[in-house]
Amino acid sequence: MQNENMSIIEVKDVSKFFGEKTALDHINLSVKKGEFVTILGPSGCGKTTLLRLIAGFQTASEGEIRISGKEITQTPPHKRPVNTVFQKYALFPHLNVYDNIAFGLKLKKMPKAEMEKKVKAALKMVGMTDYEYRDVNSLSGGQQQRVAIARAIVNEPEVLLLDEPLAALDLKMRKDMQMELKEMHRRLGITFIYVTHDQEEALTLSDTIVVMSEGKIQQIGTPTDIYNEPINSFVADFIGESNILNGTMVKDCRVRFCNHEFECVDKGFGENMPVDVVIRPEDLYIFPVSDMAQLRGVVQSCIFKGVHYEMVVLCGDYEMVVQDYHAFEAGTEVGLLIKPFDIHIMKKERTCNTF
Ligand code: ATP
Repeated sequence: MQNENMSIIEVKDVSKFFGEKTALDHINLSVKKGEFVTILGPSGCGKTTLLRLIAGFQTASEGEIRISGKEITQTPPHKRPVNTVFQKYALFPHLNVYDNIAFGLKLKKMPKAEMEKKVKAALKMVGMTDYEYRDVNSLSGGQQQRVAIARAIVNEPEVLLLDEPLAALDLKMRKDMQMELKEMHRRLGITFIYVTHDQEEALTLSDTIVVMSEGKIQQIGTPTDIYNEPINSFVADFIGESNILNGTMVKDCRVRFCNHEFECVDKGFGENMPVDVVIRPEDLYIFPVSDMAQLRGVVQSCIFKGVHYEMVVLCGDYEMVVQDYHAFEAGTEVGLLIKPFDIHIMKKERTCNTF
């Protein structure tokens, strides 16, 4: 028996090699029934490979994959309770909308009346009720993607795998479809595993985000966890804009960076330890220079970003990106303030943006 908290998908110590190339390196992932999980990472990090292993289009070199508790590492795709929606809709161009959606059901030799009921329900789910006899070539990208989703959900899979399904759409359509997908997920109540390289999309859609880099999982967490408590500077940088600075721990919850000592939250790093210091641009307070300033600098550039302004401030040898609702023009001398809990201290991983 399944319950809401049980893992529907378990990826256990899975690696995938293509010759010398390690595409996936000891991946461990557990997805709960009904969850919306997004696999997020830059191009080439292994997102699609992981999805393809779950779908069964490729086989793991090491490790095992379980769906609903059943070991399926070697099970062919059509025998797995999953369906995949691809970036390129992969519709059959010579079939109309109805026949595209009914394709798999016809193969299963489903009785006509039942098939019609299911196709109509799937069309309703994706908001395409009146389109069943339309030629798929006459549809917009967004409509074709809806048909592709209908074709996947008509089989009533336990898990829907979506590989960058909105990447080919323009920004407005993508935003609309994001909302529709979220709503569809809620109504269907099935598990969605979604692949994207777009951090905003991942934050908008997901219950859980899996951040990957170079074949490894960097962090798994809710959107707010990943955004507010990134585990390392890679995640901090990838999930939003960040200032990543070289720092050194000083005793008693104090860290030194930008030639200045700051109070910070204790993370157990030892005295004199080199660390990465991550500060979100929106967590820096900017104001006309005064004695209150922890850092002083000169604005190098100021760009209007729609809701806020983004400024680059040169503080000694360090460039800091700052967001604010007020513009400070280039050349203005400014002060900056940072709250202790907005200074994220992380294990040193790489060279940062000091100049
Ligand atoms: P993108 O966002 O660009 O699609 P991705 O994160 O989905 O990237 P994958 O497509 O999973 O990345 O690829 C991971 C790595 O494995 C890449 O270096 C890729 O070149 C390599 N790779 C993937 N498939 C194969 C293959 N069939 N043969 C050889 N190398 C492959």
